[in-house]
Amino acid sequence: MDNCIFCKIVAGDIPSNKVYEDDKILCFRDIAPMAPVHLLVIPKEHIPSADHITNDNADIVAHIFATIPLIAKAEGISESGYRIITNHGDDARQSVKHLHFHVLAGKQLPENMG
Ligand code: AMP
Repeated sequence: MDNCIFCKIVAGDIPSNKVYEDDKILCFRDIAPMAPVHLLVIPKEHIPSADHITNDNADIVAHIFATIPLIAKAEGISESGYRIITNHGDDARQSVKHLHFHVLAGKQLPENMG
């Protein structure tokens, strides 16, 4: 999709620090990490946010969640733990309108999520 920074990363038009890639999804390091490990896992297809997940595209979300444990193992964070977050809309401060799941780890994360 035009003007979507994550679509440009998928297309290779903008560089990323890639961690994992297959034909459907991409994982790369967040450019402004909020934890020692801060990954973003995205579908290659443009889905604006979690609010746009339907039965027709939910298979990609299942694939993302089936792949995150493999990525976590490779990152060495399975045992210590990690947090998965996705933001939708202004109140959640979603800044990139392409569905993405933050994977945060590497320290004891804050208790307060709101
Ligand atoms: P959100 O606020 O949930 O929409 O998260 C968007 C995330 O994308 C933020 O944590 C940004 O730091 C991150 N981000 C934006 N541009 C890039 C980029 N070019 N490469 C990696 N991460 C990015």
